[in-house]
Amino acid sequence: MTNQRTSKLAGALGQLAEHLQWLRDEGVAAVAADPKLVQALGRRVPTAGHAAAGAGRKAGDQPRARAAASPAAPAADAPELEAARAALADVAKRVAVCRQCPLGRARSRTVPGQGHPHPAIMFVGEGPGEEEDRQGLAFVGAAGQLLSRQILRMGLTRAEVFIGNIVKCRPPGNRPPLPDEMAACLPYLREQIAILKPKVIVCLGGTAVKGLLGVTTGITRLRGQWHSCAGVDVMPTYHPSYLLRGGGEDKARWWEVWNDLVAVLARIGRPPPPR
Ligand code: SF4
Repeated sequence: MTNQRTSKLAGALGQLAEHLQWLRDEGVAAVAADPKLVQALGRRVPTAGHAAAGAGRKAGDQPRARAAASPAAPAADAPELEAARAALADVAKRVAVCRQCPLGRARSRTVPGQGHPHPAIMFVGEGPGEEEDRQGLAFVGAAGQLLSRQILRMGLTRAEVFIGNIVKCRPPGNRPPLPDEMAACLPYLREQIAILKPKVIVCLGGTAVKGLLGVTTGITRLRGQWHSCAGVDVMPTYHPSYLLRGGGEDKARWWEVWNDLVAVLARIGRPPPPR
């Protein structure tokens, strides 16, 4: 029970950290926070201290020096991380005003993706859903919560990876993005990959595989096998929402995904957590 609570709290703090980062990228210099709460969080959940650290940051601090020490990210110094963050913010700014495909007309907010500027692992899904469209953040709905649990089980936090999508605007009714829409949006993703320099991309679901690799073979046959995109190793696996079909988690599929993620951990040189 305690582990479950700690897990949930760490997940919530990871999302808080992402939201603070998003606010910062949007130009918000400070947010109000109860100092007692920040202090308590830092004391009780040291591994998620990055969330509280963002809230208490002063002008001139080097907030990303902590990220540079993350064992899940390739070594990078603070200026390099700041440069990557600025380049990602520039992509997000252009995405925010983009109307290059019909999805730009129906969206509430663009969802450029969020996370570590130099992650070992980048997750790519197909497109924002209703909750993502509302918040402007990738994978924050039910499927996102499952992805968070998978990332935590890998021994990582959401702040240590980057999470994005093939298209940055919500397709109406959560339908899969059309080939023309994916083609119009793909340059943004390619730019992000070049900035992030991940060691591995985890492609979530058949549509993401089709958009990123141009492969039309079904995900059931593709998953678990290594591919390559722009010199980066790509592991296709099931989309979290596929595991949630029918109202509960599909255990058999869950273990297939877990085996794929264990292969990803091995590829980046991290031992898998115990089963
Ligand atoms: S989905 Fe991509 S290409 Fe289409 S409008 Fe949105 S940002 Fe532009």
